[in-house]
Amino acid sequence: MDKTLCHYHPAHPATWHCVPCQRHFGDCCIPLNADAPDETPTCPLCRSKLSFLGAANSAQPFWERIPRFFAYGLQAGPLAFSAVLALASLFMPRSILLWFVLFSIATKYFYSVIEANSEAQKQAPSLLSAFVGEGFGLFFKQLVVFFLSFATLWLAADFDSEALYWAVNIGLLLVLPASIIRLALDKTLSAALSPDEVGQVIKAMGWRYLILCAFLFILWQSPSWVTYMLSHGLPRVVLVPVAAFLFGYFGVVMCAIMGYAVFQYQGALGYAIAEEDSQTGFPAAEYLRRRALAEAEIRLKEGQSGQALETLTAALARDPDDLKLNERFHQLLYGLNARERCLRHLAHYLPLATRMNPAQAATALLNARQFKADFMPEDALVCERLAGALLDRHKTREGLSLLRNLHQRFPEYPHIPRAYLLAARGFAEGLGQVESAQKLLVFVRTRYPQSPLLAEVAALEATVARLAANT
Ligand SMILES: [Zn+2]
Ligand SMILES: [Zn+2]
Repeated sequence: MDKTLCHYHPAHPATWHCVPCQRHFGDCCIPLNADAPDETPTCPLCRSKLSFLGAANSAQPFWERIPRFFAYGLQAGPLAFSAVLALASLFMPRSILLWFVLFSIATKYFYSVIEANSEAQKQAPSLLSAFVGEGFGLFFKQLVVFFLSFATLWLAADFDSEALYWAVNIGLLLVLPASIIRLALDKTLSAALSPDEVGQVIKAMGWRYLILCAFLFILWQSPSWVTYMLSHGLPRVVLVPVAAFLFGYFGVVMCAIMGYAVFQYQGALGYAIAEEDSQTGFPAAEYLRRRALAEAEIRLKEGQSGQALETLTAALARDPDDLKLNERFHQLLYGLNARERCLRHLAHYLPLATRMNPAQAATALLNARQFKADFMPEDALVCERLAGALLDRHKTREGLSLLRNLHQRFPEYPHIPRAYLLAARGFAEGLGQVESAQKLLVFVRTRYPQSPLLAEVAALEATVARLAANT
Protein backbone atom coordinates (compact mmCIF):
# COMPACT_ATOMS: atom_id res chain seq x y z
CA MET A 1 0.00 0.00 0.00
CA ASP A 2 1.37 3.39 -0.92
CA LYS A 3 1.56 5.99 1.79
CA THR A 4 -0.60 9.06 1.48
CA LEU A 5 1.17 12.34 2.14
CA CYS A 6 0.11 15.81 3.17
CA HIS A 7 -1.23 17.59 0.10
CA TYR A 8 0.78 20.69 0.99
CA HIS A 9 3.90 19.10 2.50
CA PRO A 10 5.04 16.04 0.55
CA ALA A 11 7.60 15.22 3.25
CA HIS A 12 4.89 14.67 5.87
CA PRO A 13 2.61 11.63 6.11
CA ALA A 14 -1.11 12.33 5.98
CA THR A 15 -2.99 11.97 9.26
CA TRP A 16 -6.29 13.69 8.41
CA HIS A 17 -8.61 13.68 5.45
CA CYS A 18 -11.33 16.08 4.35
CA VAL A 19 -13.94 14.19 2.34
CA PRO A 20 -15.70 17.22 0.75
CA CYS A 21 -12.40 18.90 -0.29
CA GLN A 22 -10.64 15.62 -1.19
CA ARG A 23 -7.55 16.85 0.61
CA HIS A 24 -5.13 14.99 2.86
CA PHE A 25 -3.45 16.86 5.69
CA GLY A 26 -0.45 15.98 7.85
CA ASP A 27 0.13 16.98 11.46
CA CYS A 28 2.08 19.86 9.89
CA CYS A 29 -1.20 21.44 8.80
CA ILE A 30 -3.51 20.43 11.65
CA PRO A 31 -2.24 21.52 15.08
CA LEU A 32 -4.25 20.19 18.02
CA ASN A 33 -5.71 22.13 20.91
CA ALA A 34 -4.46 20.79 24.25
CA ASP A 35 -7.31 22.56 26.01
CA ALA A 36 -9.91 20.66 23.97
CA PRO A 37 -8.28 17.31 23.27
CA ASP A 38 -11.53 15.57 22.30
CA GLU A 39 -12.48 18.15 19.71
CA THR A 40 -12.28 16.86 16.15
CA PRO A 41 -10.22 19.32 14.11
CA THR A 42 -11.91 21.00 11.17
CA CYS A 43 -10.76 21.42 7.59
CA PRO A 44 -8.78 24.67 7.11
CA LEU A 45 -10.55 25.16 3.77
CA CYS A 46 -14.21 24.23 4.30
CA ARG A 47 -14.51 23.91 8.10
CA SER A 48 -16.14 20.48 8.00
CA LYS A 49 -14.92 17.91 10.49
CA LEU A 50 -11.87 15.97 9.33
CA SER A 51 -11.66 12.19 9.42
CA PHE A 52 -8.71 10.76 11.29
CA LEU A 53 -6.33 8.42 9.45
CA GLY A 54 -4.43 7.33 12.56
CA ALA A 55 -0.85 6.25 12.00
CA ALA A 56 -1.74 4.52 8.73
CA ASN A 57 0.77 6.67 6.84
CA SER A 58 3.21 7.55 9.58
CA ALA A 59 3.83 4.19 11.31
CA GLN A 60 7.41 2.99 11.11
CA PRO A 61 7.66 -0.34 9.21
CA PHE A 62 7.89 -3.36 11.51
CA TRP A 63 11.11 -4.57 9.85
CA GLU A 64 12.83 -1.38 11.01
CA ARG A 65 11.83 -1.95 14.62
CA ILE A 66 12.99 -5.52 15.24
CA PRO A 67 15.23 -4.62 18.23
CA ARG A 68 12.26 -2.92 19.85
CA PHE A 69 10.26 -6.14 19.77
CA PHE A 70 13.06 -7.99 21.54
CA ALA A 71 13.18 -5.20 24.14
CA TYR A 72 9.41 -5.39 24.44
CA GLY A 73 9.71 -9.01 25.60
CA LEU A 74 12.08 -7.92 28.39
CA GLN A 75 9.43 -5.92 30.26
CA ALA A 76 8.18 -7.11 33.65
CA GLY A 77 4.96 -8.63 32.30
CA PRO A 78 6.47 -10.88 29.61
CA LEU A 79 9.40 -11.91 31.84
CA ALA A 80 7.05 -12.89 34.68
CA PHE A 81 4.91 -14.76 32.17
CA SER A 82 7.92 -16.69 30.83
CA ALA A 83 9.05 -17.43 34.39
CA VAL A 84 5.63 -18.90 35.20
CA LEU A 85 5.92 -21.16 32.16
CA ALA A 86 9.40 -22.25 33.29
CA LEU A 87 8.20 -23.03 36.83
CA ALA A 88 5.15 -24.87 35.55
CA SER A 89 7.30 -27.04 33.31
CA LEU A 90 9.25 -28.13 36.41
CA PHE A 91 6.68 -28.44 39.13
CA MET A 92 3.27 -28.92 37.58
CA PRO A 93 1.76 -32.40 38.07
CA ARG A 94 1.22 -34.51 34.96
CA SER A 95 -2.44 -33.77 34.50
CA ILE A 96 -3.93 -33.09 31.08
CA LEU A 97 -6.52 -30.80 32.62
CA LEU A 98 -3.85 -28.64 34.27
CA TRP A 99 -1.91 -28.42 31.04
CA PHE A 100 -5.04 -27.33 29.22
CA VAL A 101 -5.55 -24.60 31.81
CA LEU A 102 -1.92 -23.49 31.47
CA PHE A 103 -2.10 -23.39 27.68
CA SER A 104 -5.33 -21.47 27.68
CA ILE A 105 -3.82 -18.89 30.04
CA ALA A 106 -0.70 -18.70 27.86
CA THR A 107 -2.73 -18.31 24.67
CA LYS A 108 -4.81 -15.58 26.27
CA TYR A 109 -1.64 -13.75 27.25
CA PHE A 110 -0.07 -14.10 23.79
CA TYR A 111 -3.21 -12.77 22.17
CA SER A 112 -3.40 -9.84 24.52
CA VAL A 113 0.15 -8.98 23.38
CA ILE A 114 -1.01 -9.02 19.74
CA GLU A 115 -3.95 -6.82 20.62
CA ALA A 116 -1.87 -4.32 22.64
CA ASN A 117 0.67 -4.04 19.82
CA SER A 118 -2.02 -3.55 17.22
CA GLU A 119 -2.76 -0.34 19.11
CA ALA A 120 0.96 0.44 19.48
CA GLN A 121 0.77 0.40 23.27
CA LYS A 122 4.31 0.57 24.54
CA GLN A 123 3.68 -1.22 27.83
CA ALA A 124 3.26 -4.99 27.67
CA PRO A 125 0.21 -6.56 29.37
CA SER A 126 0.84 -7.54 33.00
CA LEU A 127 1.06 -11.16 34.07
CA LEU A 128 -2.07 -10.66 36.14
CA SER A 129 -4.07 -9.76 33.03
CA ALA A 130 -3.53 -13.33 31.78
CA PHE A 131 -5.53 -14.70 34.73
CA VAL A 132 -8.51 -12.35 34.73
CA GLY A 133 -11.14 -11.21 32.27
CA GLU A 134 -12.31 -12.92 29.12
CA GLY A 135 -10.47 -14.84 26.44
CA PHE A 136 -9.71 -18.21 28.04
CA GLY A 137 -11.64 -19.83 25.18
CA LEU A 138 -9.13 -18.50 22.61
CA PHE A 139 -6.91 -21.50 23.21
CA PHE A 140 -9.67 -23.90 22.14
CA LYS A 141 -10.48 -21.81 19.11
CA GLN A 142 -6.80 -21.84 18.21
CA LEU A 143 -6.75 -25.56 18.83
CA VAL A 144 -9.57 -25.98 16.29
CA VAL A 145 -7.54 -23.98 13.74
CA PHE A 146 -4.47 -26.15 14.35
CA PHE A 147 -6.56 -29.29 14.22
CA LEU A 148 -8.10 -28.30 10.88
CA SER A 149 -4.64 -27.46 9.53
CA PHE A 150 -3.34 -30.88 10.49
CA ALA A 151 -6.40 -32.53 9.02
CA THR A 152 -5.77 -30.70 5.73
CA LEU A 153 -2.16 -31.76 5.77
CA TRP A 154 -3.14 -35.32 6.53
CA LEU A 155 -5.55 -35.34 3.61
CA ALA A 156 -2.86 -33.90 1.35
CA ALA A 157 -0.48 -36.66 2.41
CA ASP A 158 -3.06 -39.19 1.22
CA PHE A 159 -2.72 -38.08 -2.39
CA ASP A 160 0.69 -39.67 -2.71
CA SER A 161 2.22 -36.56 -4.23
CA GLU A 162 5.24 -35.07 -2.53
CA ALA A 163 4.78 -31.77 -4.40
CA LEU A 164 1.17 -31.43 -3.31
CA TYR A 165 2.05 -32.26 0.28
CA TRP A 166 4.72 -29.58 0.46
CA ALA A 167 2.58 -27.03 -1.34
CA VAL A 168 -0.18 -27.54 1.22
CA ASN A 169 2.34 -27.52 4.07
CA ILE A 170 3.95 -24.22 3.01
CA GLY A 171 0.57 -22.74 2.16
CA LEU A 172 -0.71 -23.49 5.66
CA LEU A 173 2.42 -22.05 7.27
CA LEU A 174 1.97 -18.87 5.25
CA VAL A 175 -1.69 -18.46 6.09
CA LEU A 176 -1.36 -19.26 9.78
CA PRO A 177 0.01 -15.87 11.01
CA ALA A 178 -2.83 -14.03 9.29
CA SER A 179 -5.33 -16.40 10.86
CA ILE A 180 -3.77 -15.92 14.31
CA ILE A 181 -3.92 -12.14 13.84
CA ARG A 182 -7.61 -12.38 12.89
CA LEU A 183 -8.34 -14.51 15.94
CA ALA A 184 -6.52 -12.07 18.21
CA LEU A 185 -8.39 -9.09 16.83
CA ASP A 186 -11.88 -10.50 16.29
CA LYS A 187 -11.83 -13.30 18.91
CA THR A 188 -14.08 -15.46 16.75
CA LEU A 189 -13.34 -18.78 15.12
CA SER A 190 -15.31 -17.80 12.05
CA ALA A 191 -12.98 -14.85 11.43
CA ALA A 192 -9.88 -16.99 11.94
CA LEU A 193 -11.17 -19.52 9.38
CA SER A 194 -12.78 -17.14 6.91
CA PRO A 195 -10.72 -16.92 3.71
CA ASP A 196 -12.06 -13.39 3.21
CA GLU A 197 -11.05 -12.10 6.63
CA VAL A 198 -7.68 -13.86 6.65
CA GLY A 199 -7.10 -12.81 3.04
CA GLN A 200 -7.76 -9.18 4.00
CA VAL A 201 -4.81 -9.24 6.40
CA ILE A 202 -2.51 -10.69 3.74
CA LYS A 203 -3.80 -8.33 1.07
CA ALA A 204 -3.35 -5.31 3.34
CA MET A 205 0.34 -6.10 3.84
CA GLY A 206 0.96 -7.23 0.27
CA TRP A 207 4.30 -8.88 -0.43
CA ARG A 208 5.62 -7.56 2.88
CA TYR A 209 3.50 -10.20 4.53
CA LEU A 210 6.24 -12.58 3.39
CA ILE A 211 8.80 -10.58 5.39
CA LEU A 212 6.57 -11.00 8.41
CA CYS A 213 6.36 -14.75 7.82
CA ALA A 214 10.14 -14.99 7.43
CA PHE A 215 10.73 -13.18 10.74
CA LEU A 216 8.15 -15.30 12.52
CA PHE A 217 9.67 -18.48 11.12
CA ILE A 218 13.15 -17.54 12.39
CA LEU A 219 11.77 -16.59 15.80
CA TRP A 220 9.75 -19.78 15.98
CA GLN A 221 12.93 -21.80 15.47
CA SER A 222 14.99 -19.76 17.94
CA PRO A 223 14.00 -21.42 21.24
CA SER A 224 14.78 -24.86 19.80
CA TRP A 225 18.18 -23.71 18.52
CA VAL A 226 19.13 -22.15 21.82
CA THR A 227 17.95 -25.22 23.73
CA TYR A 228 19.86 -27.46 21.33
CA MET A 229 23.05 -25.47 21.85
CA LEU A 230 22.64 -25.68 25.61
CA SER A 231 21.71 -29.34 25.56
CA HIS A 232 25.32 -30.59 25.76
CA GLY A 233 26.17 -31.26 29.35
CA LEU A 234 23.15 -29.63 30.97
CA PRO A 235 20.81 -31.86 32.97
CA ARG A 236 17.19 -32.15 31.90
CA VAL A 237 15.99 -30.44 35.07
CA VAL A 238 17.71 -27.23 33.89
CA LEU A 239 17.06 -27.62 30.19
CA VAL A 240 13.28 -28.02 30.35
CA PRO A 241 12.54 -24.79 32.25
CA VAL A 242 15.03 -22.92 30.05
CA ALA A 243 13.20 -24.17 26.97
CA ALA A 244 9.84 -23.22 28.48
CA PHE A 245 11.12 -19.75 29.37
CA LEU A 246 12.47 -19.20 25.86
CA PHE A 247 9.20 -20.41 24.39
CA GLY A 248 7.41 -17.75 26.43
CA TYR A 249 9.86 -14.98 25.55
CA PHE A 250 10.06 -15.66 21.82
CA GLY A 251 6.30 -16.18 21.73
CA VAL A 252 5.80 -12.68 23.12
CA VAL A 253 8.27 -11.22 20.61
CA MET A 254 6.45 -12.96 17.73
CA CYS A 255 3.08 -11.74 18.93
CA ALA A 256 4.44 -8.20 19.33
CA ILE A 257 5.57 -8.24 15.68
CA MET A 258 2.25 -9.61 14.46
CA GLY A 259 0.33 -7.05 16.47
CA TYR A 260 2.50 -4.19 15.27
CA ALA A 261 2.06 -5.30 11.65
CA VAL A 262 -1.67 -4.75 12.16
CA PHE A 263 -0.93 -1.28 13.55
CA GLN A 264 1.32 -0.49 10.60
CA TYR A 265 -1.27 -1.56 8.04
CA GLN A 266 -4.24 -0.16 9.93
CA GLY A 267 -5.35 1.96 6.99
CA ALA A 268 -5.69 -1.01 4.65
CA LEU A 269 -7.32 -3.03 7.45
CA GLY A 270 -9.86 -0.33 8.15
CA TYR A 271 -8.56 0.87 11.53
CA ALA A 272 -7.48 4.35 12.62
CA ILE A 273 -5.26 4.36 15.70
CA ALA A 274 -2.70 6.95 16.70
CA GLU A 275 0.62 6.02 18.23
CA GLU A 276 0.94 6.73 21.95
CA ASP A 277 2.38 10.22 22.65
CA SER A 278 2.20 11.12 18.97
CA GLN A 279 -0.74 13.48 19.37
CA THR A 280 0.30 16.32 21.59
CA GLY A 281 -1.78 19.44 21.54
CA PHE A 282 -0.65 23.00 22.11
CA PRO A 283 -1.91 25.44 24.74
CA ALA A 284 -4.78 27.54 23.39
CA ALA A 285 -2.77 30.62 22.36
CA GLU A 286 -0.03 28.64 20.62
CA TYR A 287 -2.66 26.42 19.02
CA LEU A 288 -4.48 29.42 17.51
CA ARG A 289 -1.21 30.87 16.28
CA ARG A 290 -0.10 27.64 14.61
CA ARG A 291 -3.51 27.08 13.10
CA ALA A 292 -3.50 30.56 11.58
CA LEU A 293 -0.01 30.06 10.12
CA ALA A 294 -0.95 26.67 8.67
CA GLU A 295 -4.24 27.92 7.29
CA ALA A 296 -2.64 30.96 5.67
CA GLU A 297 -0.08 28.73 3.99
CA ILE A 298 -2.78 26.33 2.75
CA ARG A 299 -4.97 29.17 1.45
CA LEU A 300 -2.01 30.66 -0.35
CA LYS A 301 -1.10 27.32 -1.94
CA GLU A 302 -4.73 26.98 -3.02
CA GLY A 303 -4.48 30.40 -4.67
CA GLN A 304 -6.83 31.99 -2.11
CA SER A 305 -4.55 34.86 -1.12
CA GLY A 306 -7.45 37.05 0.00
CA GLN A 307 -8.52 34.51 2.62
CA ALA A 308 -4.90 33.97 3.62
CA LEU A 309 -4.63 37.70 4.39
CA GLU A 310 -7.89 37.57 6.35
CA THR A 311 -6.67 34.64 8.42
CA LEU A 312 -3.42 36.40 9.28
CA THR A 313 -5.16 39.71 9.99
CA ALA A 314 -7.43 37.96 12.50
CA ALA A 315 -4.47 36.20 14.10
CA LEU A 316 -2.50 39.45 14.34
CA ALA A 317 -5.45 41.13 16.04
CA ARG A 318 -5.12 38.48 18.77
CA ASP A 319 -1.35 38.46 18.84
CA PRO A 320 0.01 41.71 17.33
CA ASP A 321 3.62 41.20 18.39
CA ASP A 322 4.16 37.66 17.16
CA LEU A 323 7.18 37.78 14.88
CA LYS A 324 6.30 34.77 12.75
CA LEU A 325 2.75 35.95 12.08
CA ASN A 326 4.07 39.40 11.16
CA GLU A 327 6.73 37.94 8.90
CA ARG A 328 4.18 35.83 7.03
CA PHE A 329 1.86 38.80 6.73
CA HIS A 330 4.67 40.94 5.35
CA GLN A 331 5.78 38.30 2.86
CA LEU A 332 2.23 37.80 1.69
CA LEU A 333 1.64 41.53 1.18
CA TYR A 334 4.98 41.88 -0.58
CA GLY A 335 4.28 38.86 -2.78
CA LEU A 336 0.86 40.24 -3.67
CA ASN A 337 2.42 43.59 -4.57
CA ALA A 338 0.06 45.32 -2.09
CA ARG A 339 2.21 48.44 -1.87
CA GLU A 340 0.22 50.70 0.47
CA ARG A 341 -0.81 47.95 2.87
CA CYS A 342 2.70 46.55 2.99
CA LEU A 343 4.25 49.95 3.78
CA ARG A 344 1.62 50.57 6.45
CA HIS A 345 2.33 47.21 8.07
CA LEU A 346 6.07 47.91 8.02
CA ALA A 347 5.58 50.76 10.49
CA HIS A 348 4.71 48.06 13.04
CA TYR A 349 6.69 45.13 11.69
CA LEU A 350 10.06 46.77 11.14
CA PRO A 351 10.69 47.92 14.76
CA LEU A 352 9.47 44.52 16.00
CA ALA A 353 11.71 42.53 13.66
CA THR A 354 14.67 44.84 14.28
CA ARG A 355 14.34 44.07 17.98
CA MET A 356 13.92 40.32 17.60
CA ASN A 357 15.68 39.35 14.38
CA PRO A 358 17.69 42.13 12.66
CA ALA A 359 18.60 39.96 9.65
CA GLN A 360 14.93 39.38 8.94
CA ALA A 361 14.25 43.08 9.38
CA ALA A 362 16.99 43.86 6.85
CA THR A 363 15.16 41.71 4.28
CA ALA A 364 11.94 43.58 5.01
CA LEU A 365 13.68 46.90 4.50
CA LEU A 366 15.06 45.80 1.13
CA ASN A 367 11.51 44.76 0.20
CA ALA A 368 10.20 48.15 1.29
CA ARG A 369 12.77 49.89 -0.91
CA GLN A 370 11.35 48.00 -3.89
CA PHE A 371 8.04 49.74 -3.26
CA LYS A 372 9.47 53.09 -2.24
CA ALA A 373 13.09 53.84 -3.13
CA ASP A 374 13.56 56.41 -0.35
CA PHE A 375 11.79 54.41 2.37
CA MET A 376 13.08 55.32 5.82
CA PRO A 377 12.16 53.86 9.22
CA GLU A 378 10.74 56.43 11.61
CA ASP A 379 12.94 55.52 14.54
CA ALA A 380 16.63 56.28 15.01
CA LEU A 381 17.43 53.04 16.86
CA VAL A 382 15.70 51.01 14.14
CA CYS A 383 17.77 52.85 11.54
CA GLU A 384 20.98 52.12 13.39
CA ARG A 385 20.30 48.44 14.03
CA LEU A 386 19.08 47.87 10.49
CA ALA A 387 22.16 49.59 9.13
CA GLY A 388 24.29 47.17 11.17
CA ALA A 389 22.37 44.16 9.81
CA LEU A 390 22.67 45.44 6.24
CA LEU A 391 26.42 46.10 6.59
CA ASP A 392 26.79 42.53 7.89
CA ARG A 393 25.14 41.36 4.70
CA HIS A 394 27.47 43.56 2.60
CA LYS A 395 24.51 45.71 1.57
CA THR A 396 26.75 48.66 2.35
CA ARG A 397 25.04 51.40 0.36
CA GLU A 398 21.60 50.48 1.69
CA GLY A 399 23.00 50.34 5.23
CA LEU A 400 24.76 53.70 4.96
CA SER A 401 21.65 55.35 3.49
CA LEU A 402 19.86 54.69 6.81
CA LEU A 403 22.55 56.57 8.73
CA ARG A 404 22.82 59.58 6.45
CA ASN A 405 22.28 62.84 8.40
CA LEU A 406 21.09 60.91 11.38
CA HIS A 407 22.03 63.78 13.72
CA GLN A 408 19.78 66.14 11.74
CA ARG A 409 16.91 63.74 11.36
CA PHE A 410 16.97 62.71 15.03
CA PRO A 411 18.71 65.48 17.02
CA GLU A 412 17.57 63.93 20.30
CA TYR A 413 19.06 60.52 19.58
CA PRO A 414 21.72 59.79 22.23
CA HIS A 415 23.68 57.22 20.19
CA ILE A 416 24.83 59.35 17.27
CA PRO A 417 28.55 58.67 17.96
CA ARG A 418 27.93 54.91 17.97
CA ALA A 419 25.89 55.13 14.75
CA TYR A 420 28.49 57.26 12.98
CA LEU A 421 31.31 55.00 14.09
CA LEU A 422 29.39 52.22 12.38
CA ALA A 423 28.93 54.39 9.30
CA ALA A 424 32.66 55.24 9.21
CA ARG A 425 33.46 51.52 9.25
CA GLY A 426 30.99 50.99 6.43
CA PHE A 427 32.60 53.72 4.32
CA ALA A 428 36.16 52.55 4.97
CA GLU A 429 35.75 48.77 4.87
CA GLY A 430 32.70 48.35 2.66
CA LEU A 431 33.22 51.04 0.05
CA GLY A 432 36.88 51.98 0.47
CA GLN A 433 35.85 55.64 0.78
CA VAL A 434 38.51 56.65 3.24
CA GLU A 435 37.81 60.38 3.10
CA SER A 436 34.15 60.04 3.99
CA ALA A 437 35.11 57.78 6.90
CA GLN A 438 37.67 60.32 8.13
CA LYS A 439 35.17 63.18 7.88
CA LEU A 440 32.66 61.27 9.99
CA LEU A 441 35.25 60.43 12.64
CA VAL A 442 36.39 64.03 12.89
CA PHE A 443 32.78 65.06 13.21
CA VAL A 444 32.22 62.68 16.12
CA ARG A 445 35.41 63.75 17.87
CA THR A 446 34.69 67.47 17.67
CA ARG A 447 30.93 67.39 18.15
CA TYR A 448 30.81 64.81 20.98
CA PRO A 449 34.01 65.32 23.00
CA GLN A 450 32.43 63.66 26.06
CA SER A 451 31.55 60.42 24.21
CA PRO A 452 32.90 57.25 25.85
CA LEU A 453 33.55 55.92 22.36
CA LEU A 454 36.41 58.29 21.60
CA ALA A 455 39.01 55.56 22.13
CA GLU A 456 37.32 53.48 19.47
CA VAL A 457 37.13 56.53 17.24
CA ALA A 458 40.87 57.04 17.62
CA ALA A 459 41.59 53.38 16.87
CA LEU A 460 39.46 53.47 13.74
CA GLU A 461 41.11 56.73 12.65
CA ALA A 462 44.50 55.03 12.90
CA THR A 463 43.28 52.10 10.82
CA VAL A 464 41.75 54.41 8.25
CA ALA A 465 44.97 56.41 8.08
CA ARG A 466 46.89 53.20 7.33
CA LEU A 467 44.36 52.31 4.65
CA ALA A 468 44.78 55.77 3.13
CA ALA A 469 48.59 55.44 3.12
CA ASN A 470 48.36 52.12 1.28
CA THR A 471 46.21 53.41 -1.54
ZN1 LIG B 1 1.02 19.83 5.76
ZN1 LIG C 1 -12.56 20.59 3.53
